[in-house]
Amino acid sequence: MTESNYRYLFNYNKAFLQQVLRFKTMTLLKISGFVISKLQLTKIVFSAILYFFMLFSMEHAFASSESKNFNLVELASGIYVHYGKHVSFESPDLDDIANIGFIVGDKCIAIIDTGGSVRIAQQLLSEIRRTSDKPVCYVINTHIHFDHLLGNIVFKDTEAEFVGHQNLADEIAANRSFFIREYGKNLGPQVSEDSIIGPDILVEEKMVLDLGNRKLQLNAYGAAHSHTDLTVFDEKTKTLWLSDLLFKERIPSLDGSLRGWLKSMDSFDRIDAEHIVPGHGPASTKSKDGYASQLQYLQLILEETRRGISQGLFMEDIVEQVGVNEKKKWLLHEQHHKRNVTKAFSELEWE
Ligand SMILES: [Zn+2]
Repeated sequence: MTESNYRYLFNYNKAFLQQVLRFKTMTLLKISGFVISKLQLTKIVFSAILYFFMLFSMEHAFASSESKNFNLVELASGIYVHYGKHVSFESPDLDDIANIGFIVGDKCIAIIDTGGSVRIAQQLLSEIRRTSDKPVCYVINTHIHFDHLLGNIVFKDTEAEFVGHQNLADEIAANRSFFIREYGKNLGPQVSEDSIIGPDILVEEKMVLDLGNRKLQLNAYGAAHSHTDLTVFDEKTKTLWLSDLLFKERIPSLDGSLRGWLKSMDSFDRIDAEHIVPGHGPASTKSKDGYASQLQYLQLILEETRRGISQGLFMEDIVEQVGVNEKKKWLLHEQHHKRNVTKAFSELEWE
């Protein structure tokens, strides 16, 4: 039943209730010596039952449409992805821009990223509980950025262990005040330094986590999108969770190393993946189709910035000239493109 059907029935039953109240008023008014008819009494009782039944059904219907709104998809058996929204820095949904999710094994569940706020992490948790009653044994953070880890606190008092890149603990320590200053409101009513939860288990290069008949291969990268990039590969479904090492639709944002990011992309080809989950944008089934746009964008920035530097141009001019035709290919281009080129310039000017 659609929401408009329910609205219609709700209004219909509201009219019934008004009728009920009218009858009740009449009964009260006529309490001395007036007896309502049997038919009227039946109508009152029937309307009241129907009304409360409809209220209950509506509540139920709205609750399930809410979970639909959370946009959770079972991408492959036991692999659940919540797709974030492509919104700008000013949007109230800024805490919900990243793809996050969970993987269910025979023994327990691993969460991959917790979203940008307590609000999003709580929604994720309620989706997990609707899906499975197994415990969450790992919370894996794919990197340092706020939209992937500020929800961690929701899982703090559980048995889950937090897993991240070997640099993640230090980066969190260095960014605690920044996160609190910029995103304090995302962290719930009582915000303190302890609201930002870092990893218990650090991945230096590779690690395997076993969820019970389901092994996850974790891979830590050198500087690429960030300095803390970690990917997850589910052997069972050949799902490669690249997180922000891959952007689709939304423009990539460079915070680590342009050359490092391109180098990391070389290695994706060598992984036999059936499903690829980016940090932003839709999942894809064929790796090459999945990341061709990002590869082209990063290579173009590399080549054009290098050319500008070799011609002796100033950074300001390079930033204006590089990738001018990229604007129409990416969402939120204006928020990151010039910053990406500036970052590339500072990396490439001394090579
Ligand atoms: Zn990121």
